[in-house]
Amino acid sequence: MRRKLIAGNWKMYGDRAHLAELDAIAEAARANPGIDVLVCPPSVLIAPALARQPGLAIGAQNCHDAPEGPYTGSVSAAMLRECGATHVIVGHSERRAAQHETDAKVRAKSKSAIAAGMVALVCVGETEAERRAGEAEDIVTGQIFGSVTKYAQPDTVIVSYEPVWAIGSGLTPSIEEVRSMHATIRAALCSKLGEAIGSAIRILYGGSVSAANASELLAIENVDGALVGRASLTAAQFVPIIEAAAAI
Ligand code: PEP
Repeated sequence: MRRKLIAGNWKMYGDRAHLAELDAIAEAARANPGIDVLVCPPSVLIAPALARQPGLAIGAQNCHDAPEGPYTGSVSAAMLRECGATHVIVGHSERRAAQHETDAKVRAKSKSAIAAGMVALVCVGETEAERRAGEAEDIVTGQIFGSVTKYAQPDTVIVSYEPVWAIGSGLTPSIEEVRSMHATIRAALCSKLGEAIGSAIRILYGGSVSAANASELLAIENVDGALVGRASLTAAQFVPIIEAAAAI
């Protein structure tokens, strides 16, 4: 039985005043104990977020793959864990594109996160050109084999399928495209990690999830939750997504 997870990625938005949004989000999390809720604010807001809402799961958006070292401007998974973060997003397409993060780098970051006692939320997804070329499922399968560590367990790794062209665009794949891709990811996880582990790892969908489309997307087979960008920034938009997940 895979519990649904609704995770918010605040990206580089928000300040201390914005943490007021967490009050209603935490209330919705408490009111819907059958699902998991996570918010990933900018790393400097992790500790203040937990000070405001100690019961809410708070995650980070990135970590370095080394435990420590001369890496100016970076933070390790252990440092994030010490701040109270329980999860860390790795391999988001914005970082794969802008920071040239490879599958090997994403895998190394996941291992580092797991070693620090965190859950790695590993993002995969094809570009628009790759989908148009009919390569989406091959590309994503390759990303699963390359980015997910062989040490992955259902309680240490979560996968998020995020078509690059759907992020922040208002576009989403069709229901059939999501169903098919999540089945492909499930098969890749089972092939890499064995049936027991592969079938228990959660696979989220991310890319323009909103209150309007959440119910439909979250009802698809093998969609175990959502990674939400823009619509996670306000409780008014995020809470209905939590409630949609809880209603399934
Ligand atoms: C994201 O960046 O992970 C994301 C899914 O963004 P949005 O929901 O805004 O498309």
